[in-house]
Amino acid sequence: MTKLIYGLCDMQSFYASCEVASREEYAARRKEFDDSTDPALVVSGDPARRSGIILAATPTAKTSGVSNAMRLGEALQLNPRLIVVRPHMEFYLQVSVRIQEVMKQVFPLQEQFSVDEGFFAFPHPSKLFPDPMAAARKLQQKIWDQFRIRSRIGMGPNKWVAKMSNAKAKKSPEGIVWWREEEVQALLHPMPVESMWGLKKRAETLKTEFKAVTIGDVAAIPLGRLKARFGVWGEVIHRWANGVDISKINPHSYSTPHKGFSHRTTLPNERRLLSSSSNCLMRSAIA
Ligand SMILES: [Mg+2]
Repeated sequence: MTKLIYGLCDMQSFYASCEVASREEYAARRKEFDDSTDPALVVSGDPARRSGIILAATPTAKTSGVSNAMRLGEALQLNPRLIVVRPHMEFYLQVSVRIQEVMKQVFPLQEQFSVDEGFFAFPHPSKLFPDPMAAARKLQQKIWDQFRIRSRIGMGPNKWVAKMSNAKAKKSPEGIVWWREEEVQALLHPMPVESMWGLKKRAETLKTEFKAVTIGDVAAIPLGRLKARFGVWGEVIHRWANGVDISKINPHSYSTPHKGFSHRTTLPNERRLLSSSSNCLMRSAIA
């Protein structure tokens, strides 16, 4: 039976990669599968005063302990030779729009999820996409060829699982991971509760109040108990812990952003309400 495979494509160190990719002095030595060929560069608010915050750092910069949201002064203590550049937000947004267009060329069913992330979906098996790994690689290759930005792609039977497998893709050498539907629970359940994407403080509650250590522990909690504690979120947590997610790809997510839960009552029908509110959960989780 033909089903949809969902993917999440995420740019590596997006702002920093935009800077590195657009600077002549680094272009010749950069290699796609070797991020140590990038310079130790950070994008930071106010380089002159050292008081700015690190907005993005290349993996090379991160090897010296530098991380996002760190103060520039602290980062420079860790690595005095850091290359510091001011943010060029308009440029990053232009690159972002163009990358999302490339995603849509490869996968017409596509949703921008953040400035450097996009969901996509495609039917499988299908003649157009006979090999999901090859389809993902095609997208990754196009992004590298056109923008010299590395991307990581996670795929699975739904959006949430794609987000989870994307986290694994970041640690895989080729940067692409596909979790098949039949193996999702076995892969998901040994993982720690705090790795459940989108739960924020609810993960802590699951640990302290429900004594859940792994995602499998969460899946074993009766739905009624989750609903009693978390309300509407109880159902979402139950689904996610079982590798299920009902949110749909919304190609217009950026032209009609979800405003929040209070708006769902104004939606015209139940079906749309369900998928939209669940999309809204996905979105509010990163807000
Ligand atoms: Mg990213």
